[in-house]
Amino acid sequence: MRFVALTILAVSLAACATAPAPPETGRPGGLRVCPGNVSNAPLTDNSGRIRSFDPVARIDGVSLLRAPVEACVSSGFGPRRGGASSFHEGVDLYTRTPRTIVASGDGVVEYVGSQRGYGRTIVIRHNSDLKTRYGHLSSYADNLRKGARVKRGEPIGRTGDSGNATAVHLHYEFLIRGRPVDPLSAGK
Ligand SMILES: [Zn+2]
Repeated sequence: MRFVALTILAVSLAACATAPAPPETGRPGGLRVCPGNVSNAPLTDNSGRIRSFDPVARIDGVSLLRAPVEACVSSGFGPRRGGASSFHEGVDLYTRTPRTIVASGDGVVEYVGSQRGYGRTIVIRHNSDLKTRYGHLSSYADNLRKGARVKRGEPIGRTGDSGNATAVHLHYEFLIRGRPVDPLSAGK
């Protein structure tokens, strides 16, 4: 029974159900929260833009994009309720249709492939402690291989709904020594 319970927990951690919402993407002036019921939504101004949003996080001397795709935030980081109560270990960036995802910082591709719940996934290592993970992709960039060096802004794939996803979006994580932190607020 213990094994079964752990398995269910692992699946719920990766669960990434996101209700479809109208696209609010590609507009200048900051990152928006999608209209509708968004769990753990960051504070926004009257036009739906995240308050005091800095698009670049600086952690241990590494600069990382907080949103490596043109999208709106359809789910924030942290505990949330759903079919099963779970902790959302990243942020969901909704794009409605597949859209190009870029590497959020300079680094080395550590993983390209399918992960349970995450579907098509890329992990980039930025230094000994810091990684970013990109989940639910529809496709990978050509020639993207484990061990490849990538530069910030370089296309790595496209958003999709592979794995445990109900809408086309990027599930995006910051991992510091393996622990997830909020991409929208971590660092400076
Ligand atoms: Zn997610």
